[in-house]
Amino acid sequence: MTKSRRSFLCAMGAGAIALPLSTLTRDAALLAAELPKLSLDNPTAKALQYVHESPDAAKLCSGCLLYTDSAAADWGPCAIFPGSVVAAGGWCVSWSARA
Ligand code: SF4
Repeated sequence: MTKSRRSFLCAMGAGAIALPLSTLTRDAALLAAELPKLSLDNPTAKALQYVHESPDAAKLCSGCLLYTDSAAADWGPCAIFPGSVVAAGGWCVSWSARA
């Protein structure tokens, strides 16, 4: 196999992977935009002491491992609250730094 043919096949493989990932990211962003904001009355939110404004600027939902769309600017999805979005500047006791 020639080098140019190998390069072409590698590029095609990378493109085949990149397209579905970009589609998933776009779909996740659209889905998050349609979800309601997490209510402070949510029992799980209360149990985890969730707040829309973090008391610690170094510990924000946007920097949490469980904030599943790091591109979401104001409100985004959290793995703990699948039916809602949380404030990017929020916080709860499950906060864990994104690596
Ligand atoms: Fe925010 Fe808590 Fe969800 Fe982390 S686990 S994103 S701190 S609500």
